[in-house]
Amino acid sequence: MEMLADDNASETLKPLVFRLHENAPAIIREVLLERGWTEFDQKEQDDADWNLYWRNSPFPMTDHHSIKPWQRLNHYPEAVRITRKDYLARHLKRMKGAYGSTLYEFSPVAFIMPNDYVKFIAEYSKEIQSVGRPSYWICKPVHLSRGRGILIFQDIKDLVYHCTVIVQKYISNPLLISGYKLDLRLYVCVTSFCPLTIYTYEEGLVRFATEKFDLSSLDNVYAHLTNTSINKYGASYKTFKEGIGCGCKWTFSKFRSYLRIFGVDDMLLWQKMNNIVILTLLAVTPLPEASNCFELFGFDILIDDKFKPWLLEVNYNPALCLDCSIDDTVKRKLLHDIVELLNYKQVDAHRQNEMPGSKAVRRRQVPWRRTGQSTPEQAPGLLSGQKVSTSISAPQTQPALQFARGSIHKVSSPTRKTARAHPRETLTSQLREKMNKPKTSTQVKIEAKNKQLPAVHSPFISAQLSRWSPSPEICNYKLSTRPYFLSDKDQMPTRQVGGFVLIFPFNEAALQASKDGTDVKSIIKEINKLVSKQNSARQKKTKSV
Ligand code: ADP
Repeated sequence: MEMLADDNASETLKPLVFRLHENAPAIIREVLLERGWTEFDQKEQDDADWNLYWRNSPFPMTDHHSIKPWQRLNHYPEAVRITRKDYLARHLKRMKGAYGSTLYEFSPVAFIMPNDYVKFIAEYSKEIQSVGRPSYWICKPVHLSRGRGILIFQDIKDLVYHCTVIVQKYISNPLLISGYKLDLRLYVCVTSFCPLTIYTYEEGLVRFATEKFDLSSLDNVYAHLTNTSINKYGASYKTFKEGIGCGCKWTFSKFRSYLRIFGVDDMLLWQKMNNIVILTLLAVTPLPEASNCFELFGFDILIDDKFKPWLLEVNYNPALCLDCSIDDTVKRKLLHDIVELLNYKQVDAHRQNEMPGSKAVRRRQVPWRRTGQSTPEQAPGLLSGQKVSTSISAPQTQPALQFARGSIHKVSSPTRKTARAHPRETLTSQLREKMNKPKTSTQVKIEAKNKQLPAVHSPFISAQLSRWSPSPEICNYKLSTRPYFLSDKDQMPTRQVGGFVLIFPFNEAALQASKDGTDVKSIIKEINKLVSKQNSARQKKTKSV
């Protein structure tokens, strides 16, 4: 069972207890059982007799209010502010306006439809006038995932949508390996939004399309979408593909080796990706204060042929299913490292309220502060990318597991008069037909609901779009338990835990600016300074070569 670093090692050891909500991925149970945890039994155990509660949907606020010091929840309140495509687009647009497009130019230009319809038409017409032809666009329903309902188009006549969608510039020059498109699934764990504390996972998944990229066949899902949920049904999925192999996945490690062979600076790419993560999460701060929770995000990043990373979207509940052995290797270790990051102590296994004056209670009262010992001068991962000696390595602690351890908004042309009689179907509707799958009940419900709405500028949609504002109930919620994400030694976040590398705070100034409410302006200033340092270091390196 889990061996916990703690004060009371001599006491009777109790196992840690996990609680899974229905539909929680099976691998979570497997990993926790591997670590010697036991599963919560609602009939036998008290309501609060668990240490980790994992669910696929947000927790009711009552769960956050009643959190105990020994417990952790796998969602932060309102984390969905960046995981829905339209919310993300709005936040990033706002940040671009406030802090300049140079820093925030990592996300493809996007329009939320139907609200931004007029703006989109203006952009589309401007391009035709200046370049002579429109560029490529991708249309994605905001409430769907796994590549469902996506349409790629060049001619506006082909744009059709049945619900709120984002229409985003299609990156038409992606990095290709042997002709295959790819994107990266980067795992990011936020252990606190207040103060902001962000880790990125060094290992991750490279996801390939399974047919060669070809702009003359925009309908081919297997060539344009990199979702495994789609490509695993492709005819070439199991066959050996030159340069890629079988299946549709690589690990980051393999991808990095590949880049190095071709002389590409993989560290620079990693730094840029970490910058994207920080800048994106800054866009949603402040989130309401809540203690003892964490959020695992899946950042989808596409690299273009100039090695520029683009943020496509941020996933809530990144897929933890095991489609192949690469999934097993990456996701199992990821989950073990998450448990390490959650920093359980022996006292947590007792699952009792501490006595006043006890060590745990005193620890709880220690605010976020610097002791003068070790400060994250410059955290690894962001900007420096080097490992530090103060890391806790999950594999080192693993051997000790022996114990206590619609109105259909159909837009075919600016005037609508030139609409095609039979617009193209979305890529995945074709796939659904191929797979002979019916629409999901959610899709049917949403379409039925939208059918009752007036076209474009519907108040229902505006209300949906503004739903990201924090509720007063949430704003009033105060931190009540000790911050688990700080080390006992110096009350600082640990710089590395297994494969998780701390990328924020990345220096003393960023730390100060995130202490009492996030001072986004000062943090952006620090990021700007560091990015220019990075650039000049790179220029020096290039000159000396
Ligand atoms: P979903 O939530 O449905 O997976 P994504 O935004 O991740 O939606 O898009 C699915 C896939 O479509 C991505 O994995 C990527 O391969 C492709 N894609 C999405 N947006 C773009 C874009 N702007 N440019 C190029 N490819 C894109």
